[in-house]
Amino acid sequence: MEYSPQIAEWPDEFNDKLPLSEVFLSVQGEGRFAGYPALFLRFKYCNLGCVWCDTRFTWDRNEIEAGELLSPEQIVEQAKQITSKADRQSDNLHVVLTGGEPMLHQARLVVLISHLKDAGYRFFEIETNGMFVPSQEIIDAIDWWNCSPKLSNCGLPIETCLVPEAIRAIAATNKADFKFVVSEDSDFEELEKYYLPHINRGQVMLMPEGYTQKRQLRNSQWVMEECAKRGFRFSPRLHILAFGNERKR
Ligand code: SF4
Repeated sequence: MEYSPQIAEWPDEFNDKLPLSEVFLSVQGEGRFAGYPALFLRFKYCNLGCVWCDTRFTWDRNEIEAGELLSPEQIVEQAKQITSKADRQSDNLHVVLTGGEPMLHQARLVVLISHLKDAGYRFFEIETNGMFVPSQEIIDAIDWWNCSPKLSNCGLPIETCLVPEAIRAIAATNKADFKFVVSEDSDFEELEKYYLPHINRGQVMLMPEGYTQKRQLRNSQWVMEECAKRGFRFSPRLHILAFGNERKR
């Protein structure tokens, strides 16, 4: 049967507020900054609905958690409650804006980042599916883009997931990695055919599919071998190795 995600609709108008799902301290689990201490700010809603998504509680109509919209000031207050002043001013602590799909809220994120910078936070990563063209304001505000464009192994046709102008704009920031979840040989054909015309091979990282520790370990061996053969970088998924498919906090 064809996969059809049950996407929760988001409000037409948020005013200046943001649909925060959760805020927590952990360690960045993926990408070039894997291992850095990180303050995660997770936002609700997603435009895609991948079959293997591990944050369905941010977008699935049947699982999304209730909650009110918060102003930037309220979000900064929540962040400050779990980080000391010393932490905030350390280059080691990264603020990771994630989701769901945080770029649904990009204009409001620019305002939030400005408030977070005023509170002392210094380094900002964003995790996005690469389907939204970034404004110059958010390009200037973000220090690193962890872009995870989707292949058809997400359950949806590649044509649904690929927005070339958004991919090219994020690649052109020169502060972006493109992380692809791979699970079989045909994924490489799609990656080469649909994405490599828009990004450099050197910007690509591969991650093993699998939301259990066992499956991560097994697929990691295969993906590492493919990275070595094909000249891509490997990204671990430390949170799955440490916590399995529990919520990562
Ligand atoms: S784009 Fe990301 S948040 Fe959205 S459904 Fe896919 S994996 Fe989940």
